[in-house]
Amino acid sequence: MPELPEVEAWRLMLDPLVKRAPIERAGPAHIATLKTIEPPLSALDGETFKGVERRAKRFLLPTGDEELVVLVHLMSAGRLKYVAPNGKGAKTPMFRVRFADGGELQLTEAGSKKRAGVWLLRPDALRAELAHLGPEADALTTEDVARILASDSRRLHSLLRDQRLIAGIGRAWANEILWAAQLSPYALSTQVGADGTERLATAIHDELQRGLELRVAGANDEKTYRVHGKLGVPCARCGTPIARVDFEEHTIYYCPPCQTEGRVLKDRRLSRLLK
Ligand SMILES: [Zn+2]
Repeated sequence: MPELPEVEAWRLMLDPLVKRAPIERAGPAHIATLKTIEPPLSALDGETFKGVERRAKRFLLPTGDEELVVLVHLMSAGRLKYVAPNGKGAKTPMFRVRFADGGELQLTEAGSKKRAGVWLLRPDALRAELAHLGPEADALTTEDVARILASDSRRLHSLLRDQRLIAGIGRAWANEILWAAQLSPYALSTQVGADGTERLATAIHDELQRGLELRVAGANDEKTYRVHGKLGVPCARCGTPIARVDFEEHTIYYCPPCQTEGRVLKDRRLSRLLK
């Protein structure tokens, strides 16, 4: 799933493109993709997008008068693409917005599971839709991080991914951030200490910034990640092969000497615990 750096890089690219021309026609949308009925998509016809904004992992496209906002969540397999006038796009995307100059914004989704979503919302409904989200991960101070860690006794990997506490981090950047901070993914949030909190706050900031710069430059996963998906690859800090462990519904990647004092983490999949 694209996380804060990926969505932000995407946003920067799409922002100038969606406001070049007024909307000629919004839709159609796949029945599984469009999550709202009222107002209808036709309410967008003739409006112009103000640009593309972002909240956590969501794209927000407000109209010029900000009376309507299109919210897009890509989930795992969704892609949002601008097709230039006369360009070659998908024939039947999950959702499309056609512009007066012939350009088109298209949401496509690979695979048979349709999980990506599009919402058309008025400002009050948008506020309600986003109300559960915590502060943006890239704007956190050390004090913010300390407060969040103290607020709940949780394993760090799980806490970092909780959008209600911190918005924008998923499993890939949780792996990258914890490696950079030299903290165990299984460490309890309330036992991190002052030094660890400082390292975590720095790592959140620096890793998301590093990710954004790489993604803006077009870097792929292989080039962007240092630990995520890198089982057996030598740790960039100590040379030990990167290890992996299943935790909840996720796979965690980590370096044992750098993060767990050399300990190998135990499988904490729910399915395994229930056996
Ligand atoms: Zn290491």
